[in-house]
Amino acid sequence: AKTHQRGGYEYFTRNMGVEIRERVLLMHALRAAFEHERLFLVYQPQIDMTTGKVLGAEALLRWKTDDGKFVPPDQFIPIAEYSGLIVDIGEWVLRSACHELVHLRSLGYVDFQMAINVSQAQFSHPLFMQTLHKALEETKAPPKFVELEITESMAMKDPDLLIKTLHQIKQLGVSISIDDFGTGFSSLSHLQKLDVDKLKIDRAFVNDIQLDTNEGSIAKMIVQLGQNLGLSIIAEGVENQMQADTLISFGCHLAQGYFYAKPLTRTDLHAWLKQKENI
Ligand code: C2E
Ligand code: CA
Ligand code: CA
Ligand code: CA
Repeated sequence: AKTHQRGGYEYFTRNMGVEIRERVLLMHALRAAFEHERLFLVYQPQIDMTTGKVLGAEALLRWKTDDGKFVPPDQFIPIAEYSGLIVDIGEWVLRSACHELVHLRSLGYVDFQMAINVSQAQFSHPLFMQTLHKALEETKAPPKFVELEITESMAMKDPDLLIKTLHQIKQLGVSISIDDFGTGFSSLSHLQKLDVDKLKIDRAFVNDIQLDTNEGSIAKMIVQLGQNLGLSIIAEGVENQMQADTLISFGCHLAQGYFYAKPLTRTDLHAWLKQKENI
């Protein structure tokens, strides 16, 4: 018999059952996709808005299913994290991005910076430093041109471990940027203790630039904070000239966003870089 207890316990558990089932299915599909090399990286250029110079790119993971559909990373990364798959996938991302960096250098882009996302589960894994070290060594990627993006929320889980790991990463010569900055709740005193190089303004704040007053804009406050701490600042999700101009007026010169380039496959990235050179 049907229960009419909407919103009640039974309704809740029944829905939860579906959700868990879906998650398990997706997890199996993700594992298979990874094993069959259906995951690949795209690269979104990062540029200096005032000079037009290309800084480098952020590597972003893509999953194309057998029927040609894309599963968005916001959907599969949490599952990869939750299942532990992220450790192997993350290592593959690290290596692939380093490998592409070396390839770009061989094409003559010797100042190119590669930004790579690292998730909580990956970062707190006891073998993370070893994995990073090995990836750099085996691909011969120069650490100076590798940047790891960690999120602000990671900064709060285990501060002592974080401080120690960041220190080790910096000793390798790899730089660190805090992604989605402003969306977490790390205290400023905390931020000061972290040995990071760059703050990445979350695209929500870039998006809000047009609504906010110049004075009260969160993006502006982040730029000022970064400047006070001697960090470089990059804005993500820049979609139009107005946002670019406003960010520049705040003192943020670096950006990433559809206004400049979408995430590109490696072949498209090479073409994009080449066409930039010829301007
Ligand atoms: P994220 O690190 O904040 O990456 C930026 C996201 O913003 C990307 O979404 C990018 O495609 C999107 N984006 C860039 N410019 C614009 C713009 O102008 N407008 C709009 N609306 N969006 C823009 P994507 O590729 O879907 O990735 C989503 C998230 O998945 C990433 O957010 C990151 O948290 C995670 N992710 C992606 N690749 C990896 C990976 O290799 N490892 C880990 N751990 N996480 C990853
Ligand atoms: Ca990122
Ligand atoms: Ca981000
Ligand atoms: Ca974001």
